[in-house]
Amino acid sequence: EVIVAIESSCDETSASVCVDGEIKSNVIATQEIHSKYGGVVPELASRAHQQAIAPVVMEALERAGVEKKDLTAVAFTQGPGLLGALLVGTSFAKSMSLGLKIPLIGVNHMQAHILAHFIEEPQPKFPFICLTVSGGHTQIVKVNDYLDMTVLGQTQDDAVGEAFDKCAKIMGIPYPGGPLIDKMSKSGDPNRFEFSKTDMPDLDYSFSGIKTSFLYFTQNQTQKNSDFIEENKYDLAASIQRHLIGMLMEKLELAAEREGINQIAIAGGVSANSELRSTLISTGEEKGWEVYIPKFEYCTDNAAMIAMTAYYQLKGGQLSDLTASPMPRWKF
Ligand code: ATP
Ligand code: MG
Ligand code: FE
Repeated sequence: EVIVAIESSCDETSASVCVDGEIKSNVIATQEIHSKYGGVVPELASRAHQQAIAPVVMEALERAGVEKKDLTAVAFTQGPGLLGALLVGTSFAKSMSLGLKIPLIGVNHMQAHILAHFIEEPQPKFPFICLTVSGGHTQIVKVNDYLDMTVLGQTQDDAVGEAFDKCAKIMGIPYPGGPLIDKMSKSGDPNRFEFSKTDMPDLDYSFSGIKTSFLYFTQNQTQKNSDFIEENKYDLAASIQRHLIGMLMEKLELAAEREGINQIAIAGGVSANSELRSTLISTGEEKGWEVYIPKFEYCTDNAAMIAMTAYYQLKGGQLSDLTASPMPRWKF
């Protein structure tokens, strides 16, 4: 099986080639245009995908040493994501499927974030729990099998990645601010500031309250001292990061306990966060978990995870046809 996969759900245009379940290339073009707007601008994302998609796909084939005629299937992110952005990948994949007369495979982006764990060793054993933390989602998922997953709990408002990015924006950090908050936290005191957070029942999350608390606190302090944020940026970053990671871990521990599962994974862009990674390892040692943390390049959006998911869908006969259209709010 030689699968080419395309990812275009948000602000990364990516393509990957997978041969018999092995990733041979993973080309990622990140759109820089959004940084000055403090978030992804959907119309600009669509246009940037249109510009990037052909060269990115060609480069993925080239790096894998594969020609178009060798392809046996074409996969694409069908959702969830931005409609216009998804449309670019969907149309491109459909035309390849039609032109090359090969099967088409529509992939769920959130399942793919989880299946990124099967790109390389070590791989979690079923059933495992995955905390999926990204720019648009925060979910605790029970993974029974490659394509059999149940959401145990999730955010009822903002995603944790969004909370990182919005707090960063309040501090004047360009989008996406999450990685910079992570970096700055290393030089700050995480116990310096307290923010109020909303407690949610069961395994659900809420991140909009803490973001508002951070906003009001910094606004108040800035009224007294206009340089407050600049003078305290490292402590602010470390303090908000401690809160966000603490909130994530609390529900993850509860889920593991309730389900009696000790195979614990994280996935999605925020799983690149160094404090989340180290906290997961130390909590895992304490609780007797086996923890699985993706390689950095497979945390944020990439087509390798789409190709991997498509590989299992192909095996299981879960194919699409040319009537496939983007599903911006697709839940699994
Ligand atoms: P979704 O997958 O829900 O559709 P998305 O594709 O936009 O959303 P990803 O690309 O998986 O999200 O992740 C991007 C998010 O990860 C951004 O919010 C970014 O700030 C965050 N992020 C990336 N690296 C880090 C880090 N080191 N610390 C905290 N957040 C991070
Ligand atoms: Mg992105
Ligand atoms: Fe994503």
